[in-house]
Amino acid sequence: MDIYTIGFEEQLKVLRRVAAPIKDINEDVIRIAENMVEAMVKGNGIGLAGPQVGLLQRIFTVKIADGDPLIFINPEIIATSPELSIYEEGCLSIPGQYADIERPAVLQIQAWNTRGRPFTLEASGLLSTVIQHELDHLNGVLFIDHLSERKRKKILGKFDVDPDRYPGVE
Ligand SMILES: [Zn+2]
Repeated sequence: MDIYTIGFEEQLKVLRRVAAPIKDINEDVIRIAENMVEAMVKGNGIGLAGPQVGLLQRIFTVKIADGDPLIFINPEIIATSPELSIYEEGCLSIPGQYADIERPAVLQIQAWNTRGRPFTLEASGLLSTVIQHELDHLNGVLFIDHLSERKRKKILGKFDVDPDRYPGVE
């Protein structure tokens, strides 16, 4: 699986689209999830979403440190805390760029696993941030969209893309 980056116009267009729900959690989806985990680990990422590998489907994977890989299918955040936390974020689709982003510190998420079973999870700390970052990808949103216009354009400028052509989903 190749990881899409914002440096290629055709790939950026995919990264800016809204992914569709997965209707049937079948063998194909299980294989996709396995391949995504492999690509994420190989890329030294801690999260990877469908659109980042050209799949406009609502699936993302997360793996933090020595933890097991987590797979979220058709995820929805059902609650977020009023408390915020700040982490320096990066993205396999925006290589070499990092910025502090403020997001809710704790969240509850509901999703389906690769066995087709629904689950809910409460996440805090880095996991909360990663989940929100990955869920953003399913809606065509990149972490740079959370930055000021000036900082966002500075990062986009490094990739020779016109920020006004692909402003992201509001
Ligand atoms: Zn990302």
